[in-house]
This record gives sequence, structure tokens and C-alpha cells, in this order.
Amino acid sequence: MRMRRLRRSESLRALVRETAIDPGDFVYPLFLCPGEGIRREVSSMPGVFNVSVDEAVREAEQAASLAIGGLLLFGLPESKDERGTGAWDDNGIVQQGLRALKKSAAAKKLVLIADVCLCEYTRHGHCGIPVKSGDTCDVDNDPTLDLLARSAVSLAQAGADVVAPSDMMDGRVAAIRRALDDASLANTPILSYASKFASAFYGPFREAADSAPQFGDRRGYQMDAANSREALREIELDLDEGADMILMKPAMPYLDVVRAARDRFGVPLGAYQVSGEYSMLQAAFQKGWLDPKRAMLESLIGIRRAGADFIVTYFAKEAAKLLG
Ligand SMILES: [Zn+2]
Repeated sequence: MRMRRLRRSESLRALVRETAIDPGDFVYPLFLCPGEGIRREVSSMPGVFNVSVDEAVREAEQAASLAIGGLLLFGLPESKDERGTGAWDDNGIVQQGLRALKKSAAAKKLVLIADVCLCEYTRHGHCGIPVKSGDTCDVDNDPTLDLLARSAVSLAQAGADVVAPSDMMDGRVAAIRRALDDASLANTPILSYASKFASAFYGPFREAADSAPQFGDRRGYQMDAANSREALREIELDLDEGADMILMKPAMPYLDVVRAARDRFGVPLGAYQVSGEYSMLQAAFQKGWLDPKRAMLESLIGIRRAGADFIVTYFAKEAAKLLG
């Protein structure tokens, strides 16, 4: 046997290729900010911008013309408070963005996914309501559920095709499902970030979304990097609570967990190639240490090969152009 026989030409290699990536598998994150005509580059994420709603519509039109599958929307509100009221304000920044995107014929071709969390809207930067006990601080799980559910309903009413809770509170999927159903939004699917690890690779995102915790960290609610069985339990619980799809994050340092989830569950699975994965590659591209085109596509095909059906990635537009 000579394995090299089938590697001799690009056409042979293409014929026997096991994994495909397509722009339709990509979800492109957008960070919406107040104002008009604003495109503010995130310094730690070259090529990623905070955009005002009018610019977001332009981004969406471009994404649609590249046949990208969807957008994941985050918000940078005008002001923040202790409870994150901007998250469920019907006039909040993402709600405004959703309404504008729904008016654009091009943007309508995209699946509009709204991130549901409080950390971008709270002054303290945690994903829920903090409670102090002595010197330490914890996030109070159950009162937070109510606020997340209100946010999800508000975003779905503004036009979100899918809501995506990313907070890692216990029981949030059930609370959100109930609230959506009560608001006659039974057809709105939930993409749950069921398997979200407390990761150093989120660093640049916190600049992009202005959501760094002002005290402590998120290890009290996000998962420990060492645990993969726990990730499968998280996914199982979220599916029992009514999640329609699962999102796993980060991607690259956790591809074994993506594979384990793929083997265990038949539901649609996405993986988020997070900011640190993107920035790390961008830094190497800028130094001339890696070939941008090849490294970008290889990083994405690795995530698909691990078992993700779709990938949230800041490379979505660039990769879509390459895939043509
Ligand atoms: Zn959060």
C-alpha cells in the first residue's frame, strides 16, 4: 500500500478530502456601540471594530454577500449600572441594531444571534448580580435568571432569530425557555453556551466588549480548564432544559471536548474561535511568522474536523473570501 498515491494532485486530494468548510458554517461576531458612522478598531484584535448600528448594517450586507451563515451580536451600552438594565432595555443598543438589521434585505439572509449576558451592561463586569460575603464576592445565581430571561425576551422581540445565553448560571436555559414561551416566542431557538471554560484566551474580547470584571474573576461560574466530563454534564443539562443548539468555547485548546460532545450528542454544535485564538494568529501574521491564508483556514478546518457544525470566528469574512 502506498498512501501517497492519493496525494499526488490537488484534484485527487480534493476528491478524498474528509472535511469541508463553507462560509455558511461561519458566524461573524459584531460589537455594536452608540453613535453614527463609528468604526473603532479594537487594539488587541486587528481587523475587529466596535461599530455603530449604521456601520453594522453595512457589515451585515457584506457578510451576506459572502454567504456567511450568521451574525453574533454583542452590545456596548451608553451607560452601565449594577444590574445591567441595558441588557433588557427595549431601546438597548443590540435591540436597536436588530431592528435596523431586520429592515435590510441583505441582512435578512443571515441568522441573527443575540448574545444574552449581563457582563457588558454591568458596571462591575460580572455576568450576574454579585453578592459580597466578607472579602469575597460571588454571583447570585437565581436572581440573575430573571434578568437573563427578560433580556432574551427583549432581544427576541427586537428581531433576534436565536438567543444565545453565555453567562453559565445554572438553570438559565429553562428560565429563558419559559419566558420566551410565555411571551409567545415559542419559535425562538436557544443556542446555549453550555460548555464555556474560564479561559485566558478571552482577554482581547474584554477590550472589544468592554466587559472585564472589576473585581475577582469568573472562575466561580465558568468551567475549570481541566474538566471534560463536566462539560458533557453541562451540555446534557442544558439540552434537558430545552437548548436547541450548543456552543462550546474556546475552540482550539478544547478540541477534545468538542469531539467528545460530537460523539455523545446528536444536536447541532458550534464552537467559538475566541478572541485570544484570533489575536494570537494575527500577531504571528503581523510578524511574518505564519502564512495568514493557510493558517487561518487550517485553524478553521481543525475545528470542523473536531466535530463542530458551525464556527463563530472573527476570520469569517476573510476566510469566506478565500473560500470564494
Ligand atoms: Zn458574561
